[in-house]
Formats: sequence, C-alpha cells, structure tokens
Amino acid sequence: MENWQKQLERSIVSPAELPGLEGEERARIEGVVQRYPMRISLHYLSLIERAGDPIWRQCVPDPRELDDDGQTDDPLDEEQLSPVPGLIHRYPDRAVWLVSSTCAMYCRFCMRKRQVGCPSLAPQPGSRDEVYDYLASTPAIRDIILSGGDPLLLDDGELERILSRLRAIPHIEMIRIGTRVPVTLPSRITARLCAMLKRYHPLYINTHFNHPAEIVPASARASTLLADAGIPLGNQTVLLSGVNDDPSVMTALMQGLLRIRVRPYYLHHPDLVKGTGHFRCTLECGIGIMERLRGYTSGLATPYYVVDLPGGKGKVPVLPEHLRRRGEEVLIRTYRGEWVSYDG
Ligand SMILES: *Cc1c(COP(=O)(O)O)cnc(C)c1O
Ligand code: SF4
Repeated sequence: MENWQKQLERSIVSPAELPGLEGEERARIEGVVQRYPMRISLHYLSLIERAGDPIWRQCVPDPRELDDDGQTDDPLDEEQLSPVPGLIHRYPDRAVWLVSSTCAMYCRFCMRKRQVGCPSLAPQPGSRDEVYDYLASTPAIRDIILSGGDPLLLDDGELERILSRLRAIPHIEMIRIGTRVPVTLPSRITARLCAMLKRYHPLYINTHFNHPAEIVPASARASTLLADAGIPLGNQTVLLSGVNDDPSVMTALMQGLLRIRVRPYYLHHPDLVKGTGHFRCTLECGIGIMERLRGYTSGLATPYYVVDLPGGKGKVPVLPEHLRRRGEEVLIRTYRGEWVSYDG
C-alpha cells in the first residue's frame, strides 16, 4: 500500500473523533453523518486553527445540512444529461465523466452531495466499457473531463488504464482531471504519478482551493510536482458564505495560487443543492469581489465568475456592467468605477 493510501485510511470519519466537540453538538452532527458521510484527511484537519473557522466549515458536518431548504438534490439535471451512467454530456464538444465516487475529504458544500461517498454509486467496471463506446462513437467530443468524486483517489494503475483507453480514441484531443487532492491529500501527488500522467499530454488539471489557509508547503510541493510534469494547473473556487465571501480573502487566495503556479480559472457561484443552504451567497457579493480583483491585481489572478444555471442550462459568466450608451455616446466604466466616454 502506498503512503497516501495509508494516510487516507487514517482519515477521520466519525464525529466522535473530532477534537473539541461537546455532547449535544456531537449528537446533532452524528445525525447529519447518517445522511451525508464525513471524511476529513489528517492533512486537512491539521489546517484547522479553531472551531468554526473557514477550514472547519468546509469539512465538519453542520446540523443545517438537514434543513429542508426547498432545494433539490440535482438542480443541474446532470442525471437527465447522462447518455450512459456516469457521463454528463451537456455541451457540444466536451463531457464530464464521473470516474470515482470517493474523495479524500467530503466537502460539506459539495454539488454532488447526493452521490459522493456512497459506495453503491461507484462506477461498475462494466459501465466503463459503455462510456468508452459512447465516446468512441461521438466524434463531437474532443475534450473529456474526469471528475467524481475525485479521480486521483483511483490508484495509478487504474487511472492509467482509463487514460490510455481515452488516448486510443482519435478525436479526443485533450484530457482534463478535476481533483481536490493537492488541497486535501497532497501526499497523493507522487513523482510516480506525475511520471505516468506526463505520458498522456495534453493533460490539464483543475484543482479546488477555497481559502488562502489551504496553501501550505505540502500543497505547494504537490502543485510544483504537477507543474514540473508540464501539466497546466487551473483552480476552481466555490464562493462560500463564511469561508471566502470577502474581497481581501479572495485576493489573498488568488495571489497565493499564482505563487504556487496555479492559475485561477473559475469562481463558481454556489449551486442550489439541498443541504448546502448555509453556504449561500448573493450574486451581488460575487460581483463585488470581482470588482475588487479586476484591475486591482494581476489579470492572471482574476477568474471568471460563473453561475451554473439550474436545469442543465450551463455555466454563464456574471460580469460587472462595463458598457452603456447615451444616445450616440458610448460609455465605458473603468475598474475604479468611473464612466468615461469611449470613441471607437
Ligand atoms: C463545467 C462543465 C464542463 C466544462 O466547462 P468548461 O467551461 O469548458 O470548463 C463540461 N461539462 C459539464 C457538464 C460541466 O458542468
Ligand atoms: S472534493 Fe469535490 S467532489 Fe469531492 S466532496 Fe469536495 S467538492 Fe465534492
């Protein structure tokens, strides 16, 4: 067994193992865990400074997850858009394949909360052949995104079997992997893994940092190994109330990511998923944060702010208003909020 697998086995999965929880609170959290599983890697646990901080809020179950907030389990209608089990083909030229149903940590705000951590939803070996058949017979798909769950919880051999099968399909031009392990289980990024991955270029990895306190030497080491294997690294952050809904936190996060060679890609407005209502933010909050990034810091530190519309309508960028017309005159708003006349 590899070192990272041993570390994964030592993760905390029961509220009884959480330090600093009193009787009644612990009992309430135990009720949550019966519905939505808990797993916290020792690495992620070590990032907590105090109960209720932004790291804690992402990983420790909250009784509000059981509130009936009137939301559905699958607001993006991913299951409707599934031509074969585990594959989501929503956009013309790319598809998402859920290759794993487990993660090194179960994020409390996860949009696939209904599925992750449930072994019964794990992809069956037979259904992988169905996916390869669908992909091979759908030439429009040139970009395949491995997601889950976390694809990097598969072992190197299993992952390589998937990558080599995908590479054998001529019209698949590029492969992306979405993974949170650089944040939650950085020891998973081994030299051996990187040596294997670099044989499947063009390969892109999008990771998922949500707070500057997640950027520590272990995660920097993981991103360096991946970047040195020639893998362009992007980051998808979820805007979360009480975690990063603050311009100075978000600026520190984006700048910190560039220091570890990770390029901010998306800032996701939180999806309307049942059990995550306590993380909800307003669109104005997200726009306000984007207005404090654009122009004030490197353009490379500025992600796209996107909303994934319910009903499978897709991701849409939400932008501050920068263009107005007054009769014939065109007005453009500068990043400092000043409207200037533009003749061009
Ligand atoms: C986000 C997403 C993609 C990838 O979108 P990009 O904008 O290309 O990063 C593809 N398929 C689905 C279903 C998605 O949700
Ligand atoms: S790592 Fe991703 S898929 Fe896994 S629980 Fe967190 S947000 Fe969900």
